[in-house]
Amino acid sequence: MKVFKFGGASINTIERIQNVKNILKEYQNEKLLIIISAMGKMTNAFEKVVDAFYNERNEEALSLFEKIKKDHITTAKYLLVTHYLPCEAQLKNFFTEAEWLLHDKPVQSYDYYYDQLVCIGELLSTTIVSFYLNEMKVNNTWVDVRDIIRTDNNFRDANVDWNYTQLQIDQQLKPLLETGGMVVTQGFIGATDENESTTLGREGSDYSAAVFANMLDAESQTIWKDVPSVMNADPREVADAVSISELNYTEVIEMAYYGAQVIHPKTIKPLQNKGIPLYVKCFLDPSLPGTVIHNKPVKELPPIIVIKKNQVMMELKSKDFSFVGEEHTGTLYHLFEKLSMRPNLTQNGAISLVCVFDNREDKISKLAGAAAEIFDVQLTPGLELLAIRHFSNESVVKYSCGKECLVKQRTQQNFRMLYR
Ligand code: ASP
Ligand code: MG
Repeated sequence: MKVFKFGGASINTIERIQNVKNILKEYQNEKLLIIISAMGKMTNAFEKVVDAFYNERNEEALSLFEKIKKDHITTAKYLLVTHYLPCEAQLKNFFTEAEWLLHDKPVQSYDYYYDQLVCIGELLSTTIVSFYLNEMKVNNTWVDVRDIIRTDNNFRDANVDWNYTQLQIDQQLKPLLETGGMVVTQGFIGATDENESTTLGREGSDYSAAVFANMLDAESQTIWKDVPSVMNADPREVADAVSISELNYTEVIEMAYYGAQVIHPKTIKPLQNKGIPLYVKCFLDPSLPGTVIHNKPVKELPPIIVIKKNQVMMELKSKDFSFVGEEHTGTLYHLFEKLSMRPNLTQNGAISLVCVFDNREDKISKLAGAAAEIFDVQLTPGLELLAIRHFSNESVVKYSCGKECLVKQRTQQNFRMLYR
């Protein structure tokens, strides 16, 4: 049994949906669970609907939603002939699910409405792809994942109830895979015990796929992406970025920590727990070898370069020239926790502390305001934070040269520099 995940970019045009079908044709005789994201930038489009709705701009919410409906109907019409009508009927059920809500006034939390609406993106995309695959004789069963993945009601960042979900997987999903072969379902979403929809956090489908892989004891998970493999740097920023054919789980978690947008960091643990390998493959050219991520040690990795942009440095100085002790630091970390902010870099001095954050202006000003009660606070925005894992002297020179350095840190494995 294998788990595949296709992201939004793999189905953002008619040709790409056809391409996904061609890939899956090669796996017709396999037991395959296929997780598919919302099409292209649909999740962002849904977020705009939620925003308009919650701020009681109902007309705007409805007209934004009309556009989403039209886009999906157009795609379905292009792709389908014999299966168009039943597909349209199923799409319309989901349209109605959203519209019921959109005609009301918001009385619950923003996050609640976010989840009720945003989840529709994956329900629509998987409906179309599943009908299309069936029409093309790539037989599959479509499953509403909200009947399988049970979560708490921590909307927008819901936590999976592993026991209940395992039971549904055993009772509902395994028999389908055993008898029918392919199952198409959604990532990123789930439901509470009161049948309210939930989401697991942006870009959460990789994680959903890993939850399934774990509970199905899958032989592997494959994430199909538009890049040839995991690379040692973002090729849009580093011209000579190279492919990495093999990584281990820990390395991927480290890379994600420093800000590499490879794989959703929550994805690794469910796989690591059962030693399930994760393949990253290119949907544009499936013949490329891609990357395998597993438990084995991997030697001789190239320097891995991650650049975080739009960073802000917060310098905190004790007001009375006293040492910055446990008490002050403790209070500060409580503030971080309260605002769910994680510093990307910290450095301690005798009477000062430096913390570097992503520049989320709303949060930064709240934090600075609260910290000003104990410290003199100074903010320096507009910075970048470079991390090089497995650095060499050559790579340090290459990437730091000519930059105005504000903070530099170096351990055996990692070189980090904050610069302007
Ligand atoms: N569609 C969701 C998002 O764009 C989930 C995902 O693609 O992983 O965040
Ligand atoms: Mg995505």
